[in-house]
Amino acid sequence: MNFYTQELLKGQRALVTGGSSGIGAAVCRALAKVGAKVVVNYVSDAVGADQLVNEIEAEGGTAIAIQADVSIEDDVKRMFSEMIDAWGSIDILVANAGIQWDAPFHEMTLEQWNKVLAVNLTGQFLCAREAVNEFNRRGVISDISCAAGKIICMSSVHDIVPWAGHVNYATSKGGLLMFMKSLAQEVAHNRIRVNGISPGAIKTPINRHAWETHEAEAELLTLIPYQRVGDPMDIGHAAVWLASDASDYMTGTTLYIDGGMTLYPGFREGG
Ligand code: NAD
Repeated sequence: MNFYTQELLKGQRALVTGGSSGIGAAVCRALAKVGAKVVVNYVSDAVGADQLVNEIEAEGGTAIAIQADVSIEDDVKRMFSEMIDAWGSIDILVANAGIQWDAPFHEMTLEQWNKVLAVNLTGQFLCAREAVNEFNRRGVISDISCAAGKIICMSSVHDIVPWAGHVNYATSKGGLLMFMKSLAQEVAHNRIRVNGISPGAIKTPINRHAWETHEAEAELLTLIPYQRVGDPMDIGHAAVWLASDASDYMTGTTLYIDGGMTLYPGFREGG
């Protein structure tokens, strides 16, 4: 399905972290389809990133792959320099990279705690800071967009839904919610928009065990009133809208794209 015109993001330059798989790859495809040039960031999956670049280019789009670990400051600075050298600036940051490293709380190691916070939260800070500096340097180019820049933080329903066994992950996403709102408040007067997307259960490598067997998927569906597991392109379409001037008056807000997962489905019968 194509909901948008091919010109919607024409001339805009986007960077998608963790872009070589899952939701990030869908966001790259969706942005490229409507005319944005896309940096596919990857940390180790060079083959996947190159394949996606080739696929986008075969369909007439423009993309490059750039390696960087979003939790390492020097990597992030280099990635932004490479992008700006290649295309002059950045208009859209989709800070999507994220990991889970689950453990019962009493067994969680400091390494598990630190790693998840480093990628899911510090990675957002490092990438957003580079983007904000570039947006501020350049200002609004009205031919391209009403805004000087747009940042989309890929969060999770677990920024508001507690998650036993995943305390590090839920903490990182809960922190990201307040990061996104505080940053949005700070930079709005410079015409920079910052919003979040909080997916529910989307079929990607991060949660394969939760949907790959019939039994697991049936169990998962008890949490989803809309009765289907999400597709990465459900998020891709929303990212296009948030990146476009169609959402120009929106900042500091989160789109929960979850088939109703945050509607307390247990209360339908049990309340
Ligand atoms: P995924 O595992 O396919 O994607 C995560 C991506 O981040 C991968 O490409 C991975 O290589 C990359 N990454 C990991 N560490 C990195 C690092 N240090 N630097 C750069 N990239 C790194 O899974 P996904 O489901 O597509 O996850 C994407 C985002 O969506 C994550 O932030 C995740 O928390 C969020 N999310 C996913 C779901 C879901 O149901 N799939 C639900 C809610 C939120």
